[in-house]
This record gives sequence, C-alpha cells and structure tokens, in this order.
Amino acid sequence: MQQEPSFTLTAGPVIASDRVREALGAQIVYDYDVPFLDRFRRTQEKVAQLFGTQSDVVLMQGEAVLGLEAATRGIVTADTTCLNLVSGVYSKWFGEKLRTLGPKKVIDIEVPFDSAIDPEAVEGAFRDHPEIGMVSVTHCETPSGTLNPIDEIGQIARAHGAMTICDAVSSLGGEPVRVDEWGLDLCVSAPQKCLGAAPGLSMVTVSERAWEVMRGNPNAPRRSYLSLLDWKERWEEQGQYPYTPSVTDVTGLEAACDEILEEGIDQSIERHRHAARACRAGVRAAGLEVWPRTEEIAASCVTAVKVPEGVDEAELRRVTRDRSGVIISGAQGDLVGKVVRIGHMGVVSRSLYPLIGVVAVADAVRELGVPVDLGAAAEAVVAALSEGVSAQA
Ligand SMILES: *Cc1c(COP(=O)(O)O)cnc(C)c1O
Repeated sequence: MQQEPSFTLTAGPVIASDRVREALGAQIVYDYDVPFLDRFRRTQEKVAQLFGTQSDVVLMQGEAVLGLEAATRGIVTADTTCLNLVSGVYSKWFGEKLRTLGPKKVIDIEVPFDSAIDPEAVEGAFRDHPEIGMVSVTHCETPSGTLNPIDEIGQIARAHGAMTICDAVSSLGGEPVRVDEWGLDLCVSAPQKCLGAAPGLSMVTVSERAWEVMRGNPNAPRRSYLSLLDWKERWEEQGQYPYTPSVTDVTGLEAACDEILEEGIDQSIERHRHAARACRAGVRAAGLEVWPRTEEIAASCVTAVKVPEGVDEAELRRVTRDRSGVIISGAQGDLVGKVVRIGHMGVVSRSLYPLIGVVAVADAVRELGVPVDLGAAAEAVVAALSEGVSAQA
C-alpha cells in the first residue's frame, strides 16, 4: 500500500484547514431543524459575499460540473446562438457539452492554451453575430494555469444583452470575482479549490435576468437534479429543499467561507498571488519554464510547469511523489505530457509550501537526468516569499 503523501500540492481537491476539518467532522443534523436551516441560509449569504453578488446563490449537491451543466441547460434553447471562448481544456470541454444541447449555433473563439482570450475578439464576434445570446468563459483554466479577463468579457456580453456563464471554479478566493460589477449572469464555483473545503458541492450565482430566461425556456430542467428553477421555487419561495442537502458539505463550506471572510477576500487573493509568484520565480530560477505565455495571465491558484524535453510527465509526477512524498497534479486533455502542476489553493498558499513544490519538482527533474539549479530555485522562492509580506505564515 502506498503511503499518504506528506504534502498535497494539487490543483484540487486540496487539503483543508483544521477548522474546516472540524466542521466536516461535526455531528450530522436534521436538515429541517432550525439551526441547519439557518446555517444553509447563512452559507448562501457568505458565498454570495465571496462572489460579490446580491443575486441568488444556489448550493447544489454534486461537484462543479453539475452546476455548469445546470446553468447551461437552464438558459440554452434551440434558438440560442452561443459564443464559447476556448482557452484551455475546460472551455473546450464546455463547448462539446454545449453542442449536445442542440443550440442554434455555437461559435468558438479559440486561442492557444498558453494564452488568454482577447476582449477585442469578443467585441468582434458581437459585431459579426449580433444574435449571440450567451457567452461562456472559464475564468481560470486550471489545466494550464491561465486567466481570462472575465471583467471585460462580462461587461461586453452585458452591453450586448447576452447571458454569461462563467466557470470560476478554481478562481474564487484566489482571484477577484465580482459577479454583479462585471455583469456575470451565471457564475459557478466549488468548495474544493481556493476555498479549501471538500468536493461535493456546486455554488451557482443566478442573476434576475438569468431567472427570467430560465422561466421562459421550455427545456429548462424541472423536477430534476439539474434544476436551478426547483431551487428557486421550492427553497427560495417555499422554504422546502428539493432534496436532502448534504449537511456535512454545507457545514464544511460555511467554515471555509468564515475563514476567508475573517481574513478578508482581498487578503485571501493576495495570499494566493504571492504563493504563485514565488513558485514561478523558483521554477524559472531552476532553469525550468512556466506554461502561461505572460506573467499577466498566470493564475494564482496553480502553476503549470512545462515538462522538459526528454522527460515523461507521468514519470515526473511519480518520481516527485516517491522521492519527496509530494503529490502534484498531472496534465489534462490536450496538455497531457506537456505540463505538471503545482497547486497553491487554500492552506498551501501559506508559508513555505511553494518552496516545497518547486524543490520537489526540480529534484525529480534532476533525478530524471535533466540538469536544474536547485539552489537558485530555492533562493528565488524564499526571496519572493519574503518580499513585502510577513503575514503569510
Ligand atoms: C476543478 C474544475 C472544474 C470541475 O470541478 P469538479 O468539481 O471537479 O466538477 C471545472 N472547471 C474548472 C476551471 C476547474 O478548475
């Protein structure tokens, strides 16, 4: 039997803080007893605060893919022209899923997976296709560690009267996500990334406009596990859950929200950015390369590191785990074989975790026969970590 890793530096699920673990270990309670009813409402409000929205937040059971599918089925009809912005594995997958719903048309804007979507191109798409009714975008493409400018994209879509579906699964808590300010109609996230809670829930924000579109969509799921409208009509309007909520996951999520809200959302974001910057500095100092084309689009939640010539990606991860007890994330989709990923989500955005990630990967690369400068890598991470901030520990 393989030992538990000493350090989990993955792209999610990630380790939880003691406080979140204690919450997850709390006694199971009855979902209609007042303390849990209160907890459920409070958790919705806290999640709304993280998202920067006054709109409804639906807490669905099932990890984030459920929320993304529910959002999409809710608003896409046979008459919808969709604009899908493809900058990585998740947005490409989203486009495939979208096509199975039979919308009128799906237009893709695709950029290389080490790049970000240019808002100008989105404007251009609206000029060419004013009929676009929905724009889908992934905020952080976790498989490539890149960010898209959802602030501008959201506002462009809103200005043209189109709905937006935003996948903010890995960015919430680690990057600014301002749903109302940026006009994002359906924004989806999950507890197991930067919030540092357990996988199993989808958090979906739904704007008033999105509710209207859903009510007018004859194909919007009803009496279904995928139904956002069921939540609206039964929970928000009648105080009845459509099905038994996972009390444990909600309890864990509330604790994770409390931690971030007490720290401050901006501080949480800066903590993730700080860790990721230090990691990138270390990767480069080692003589390795980071995957995102520019610093500006490099994500704070995960660092994708290019696998050097002649090294096998799976082997690199295996050696990293065997030699150092550090588990990192592999590549997905079109990036398989090209990158490995060091996560900075939640707890591991603190202290010297980025140092451990960089040293473990660099050490494994060296073991596999590619020279790296381990000393320079360690120096660079420590120097970057000590820059400016003393409150990270
Ligand atoms: C993790 C992730 C998902 C999938 O989340 P699940 O909870 O595994 O369903 C979707 N999109 C992005 C960007 C992610 O990082």
